Amino acid sequence: MNLPADPTALDLRAQAEALRTGALSSVELVQAHLERINAHADLGAFLHVATDTALGGARAADAARAAGDARALLGVPVAHKDVFVTVGMPSTAGSNMLSGYMSPFDATVVRRLGDAGMVTLGKTNMDEFAMGSSNENSAFGPVSNPWDRAAIPGGSSGGSAAAVAARLVPAATGTDTGGSIRQPAAMCGVTGIKPTYGLCSRLGMIAYASSLDQAGPIARTAWDCAMLLEAMAGFDPEDSTSVNVPAPKLLGALDAPLAGGTGARPLRGLRIGLPREWFADGLADDVAEAVREALADLTRLGAELVEVSLPRTELAIPAYYIVAPAEASSNLSRFDGVRYGHRAAHAQDLASLYANSRAEGFGPEVKRRILIGTYVLSHGYYDAYYLQAQRIRRLIADDFSAAFAQCDLIAGPVAPTAAWDLGAKVDPLANYLADIYTLPASLAGLPGMSVPVGFGRDANTHRPVGLQLVGPHFGEARLLHAAHQFQRATDWHLRAPQS
Ligand code: GLN
Repeated sequence: MNLPADPTALDLRAQAEALRTGALSSVELVQAHLERINAHADLGAFLHVATDTALGGARAADAARAAGDARALLGVPVAHKDVFVTVGMPSTAGSNMLSGYMSPFDATVVRRLGDAGMVTLGKTNMDEFAMGSSNENSAFGPVSNPWDRAAIPGGSSGGSAAAVAARLVPAATGTDTGGSIRQPAAMCGVTGIKPTYGLCSRLGMIAYASSLDQAGPIARTAWDCAMLLEAMAGFDPEDSTSVNVPAPKLLGALDAPLAGGTGARPLRGLRIGLPREWFADGLADDVAEAVREALADLTRLGAELVEVSLPRTELAIPAYYIVAPAEASSNLSRFDGVRYGHRAAHAQDLASLYANSRAEGFGPEVKRRILIGTYVLSHGYYDAYYLQAQRIRRLIADDFSAAFAQCDLIAGPVAPTAAWDLGAKVDPLANYLADIYTLPASLAGLPGMSVPVGFGRDANTHRPVGLQLVGPHFGEARLLHAAHQFQRATDWHLRAPQS
């Protein structure tokens, strides 16, 4: 195999192949990425770099391979969003509340990727407790977009997406509650998939909104995401929301033709639904144009486009921003300064210990959400807000069911615009509104992915645009197949930022 001078130029699949053939050792691969992480420290993508344990893990992987261990991901580097707890490295969820916190166990997703032989390089930056869409809510500083340092990387998995885009690591984990894998993947020009709710274990994922949180991979290609997701997914008896279905077989499906498909038209027979409401007012022209060109590419591959309707799309924003804060206010009550996390140095009594610890430990957006969540759950408001939001959530899921009677996948934009400037959106509502296209699939528990399809225009010429694909429950293989066939025919996923 032809190796580039710098192995960080290889995607995950190629890195795995280079390890398999012996063209590269895991130590070489890990060292090259660690050097690149150090050289790009100004991006702010990592909160912790596990240099010594990574090199130790790489040496162990090389020794295992020499002894005949042939696991596909053995010795391949990975990074974890700092919302996953990890043994031996701090787990902060981007919050001062958990600054320096050491977990006694690994999250199931972390353990599974470790069991597959992957080497963890470190923990990536994120919005505090995964609340945000720009990574600016991190207590440890923002992340720059590798394509344009003046831009946000998206959020809340901004560190993971920026790290993959900048070739600091071939793949990273993320979590998506209302878009936090899809939106940063789109803004950083990489590929990400949020699986069906329940496919990946939430054990050891620091909870934001438990009925929405879902783990997934961010990598350069659909192929790489499929490799990672196969290893991450699967039933976990220790997570009561984990679904007991057979672990998905994804890689085998990527190149398998659809029933009606042929070599040149591998997507023949695939009906892609375009929700009328996702191509209406509020969508920036440059994003719409890149998305439409990608849809034209998909039709050239044989897919058929059909118009569908998701009439309750706009209601996803108020419904989500009631349900998610409600669950957050409950989940975050565990941070009381007593059991774990930050403890205030000064307190007169137990109540002021709680109050001071929480006042000092949480940042402003987290406090805002706790206040909203507590309010909507309180006596007298529960029926008016929380219960109504849950009803809307059901109607949104019903809208998807109706749409999927007419199509196999749904496609549209990930976000209304390309990445905005760091510091530009100070109004929290402006941030919430930009989640409009990602929230519906989250509320319905559906799998969704983001695929790079171009760049913005004018001031956004260097800012990537993503196409969102949404599938029916457990439709990951169908999503990844379509994305992989698109990537075989296009080169957006091969582009890399300068430097
Ligand atoms: N932007 C959304 C929020 O702030 C989604 C975040 C996420 O998916 N974790 O809640």
